[in-house]
Amino acid sequence: MRIENNVLVLEEKDCGCIKDDRTPPGTRVRRFGYKKCTKCKGTGMRGSGRCRECNARDGYFSATNPRKAGYVPDYSVVEEIQPCDACHGKLVVLENRTDNLSLDIIRAIPMRVERMPNREITFNESYLGFGTVYSVVDYGRHKDLSDEEIIAEVKASPNKQACNYVLRDLLCDEIVIVSSNQGFSAWPKWAE
Ligand SMILES: [Zn+2]
Ligand SMILES: [Zn+2]
Repeated sequence: MRIENNVLVLEEKDCGCIKDDRTPPGTRVRRFGYKKCTKCKGTGMRGSGRCRECNARDGYFSATNPRKAGYVPDYSVVEEIQPCDACHGKLVVLENRTDNLSLDIIRAIPMRVERMPNREITFNESYLGFGTVYSVVDYGRHKDLSDEEIIAEVKASPNKQACNYVLRDLLCDEIVIVSSNQGFSAWPKWAE
């Protein structure tokens, strides 16, 4: 993904199907093979009843690998493949807003520090990190740091997910780092 005139532009990325080495790129498993159930030795029965491992009516079977008395799916053997339903064989899919922005883009956003020494940390900051792109509880250690050092700390390892930095795909204008008694957190801001 890239930023063009302050607007997020999604690009194509490799589809996850490329990573499954059981199947060729662009495809996914339709049906796995079967192996003989070790609990009942392939009979589907245990004692006078049905073997629950391989023959339970509500077992872990799927539409494509249905129940087969005496056998269980063998997930190491691919019996049948079908086109990947994410990329339809094209090997690429569109990025989404939970994918990461590059650090270069994030580090280029103006950042400033607003010191609020008597402010208590908010619920969002301490429990969720919600809305923030960086949040740290340091019990006041930052009070000895310069603004530049605090900014450097945020730039070193910010949250990278794009959705944190865009509002209706518009990139934030700046990142304001707000301190509290216990630490500091960085918030994206948009001009009114
Ligand atoms: Zn069995
Ligand atoms: Zn795919």
